[in-house]
Amino acid sequence: MIRLMKNELPKLNYSYDALEPYIDALTMEIHHTKHHQAYIDKLNAALEKYPELQNMAVEDLLKNLDSLKVEDTDRTAIRNHGGGHANHSLFWKLLDPVNQKNEKLIGDINATFGSVEEFKKQFTDAATKLFGSGWAWLARDETGKLHLHAMPNQDSPYLHGHTPIIGLDLWEHAYYLKYQNRRPEYIEAFWQMLKLI
Ligand code: MN
Repeated sequence: MIRLMKNELPKLNYSYDALEPYIDALTMEIHHTKHHQAYIDKLNAALEKYPELQNMAVEDLLKNLDSLKVEDTDRTAIRNHGGGHANHSLFWKLLDPVNQKNEKLIGDINATFGSVEEFKKQFTDAATKLFGSGWAWLARDETGKLHLHAMPNQDSPYLHGHTPIIGLDLWEHAYYLKYQNRRPEYIEAFWQMLKLI
C-alpha cells in the first residue's frame, strides 16, 4: 500500500522574534501559521481527487504543472497554493539568521550583475515597481545562469523551468503591520536579514 503524504507546514528553525527589529514577531507568526498554512490547506484540498499527486514534492508539481492530468480549476489552485507553499518554504530558509555568505552564489552574482551592490539595486528596483502582490526573484535557468524576475501572485520560477535562489515576498501580509505602505523600507530590511550575499 502506498502511504500518501499530505503537504505539511515546515517548522521554522528560529523563533518568531528572531528577525526583530526587521520583521516583528506577530507578523512572522501570522505569516507562518495562518498565511502559509492556508496555502497548504488549499493545496491539499485541490489534490484530494488525485492521490497520485499527493506525495509529489510541491516543486515537482509546479515544474510539471502544464502536463498534470487535472481539471483546469485544480491546475489553477495548484499554481496558486502550491506556489504559495513552495515560495514560503524557501523564504523561511532564506531568512534564517544562521545562514552564512555563499561564496559560489556571490561569485555568480558578480559575474552576472557586476557586483552584489548592483544586483541589489536591480532587485530592489524590480521589487519596488512590482504592481500589487507578488515576489521578486533571483533564479537559475537550466544552464545555471542567473535571472532576475518580478512575478505576480504566488507564481514560482519553477513554472518557467527556473530554480528560485533568492525570493522576496511582496504581499502586504509580509510587512503591513510594521511598515504599512512603506515597501522600500521593508526591502531594505530584507537585505539586512539576508546573510547569503
Ligand atoms: Mn507571504
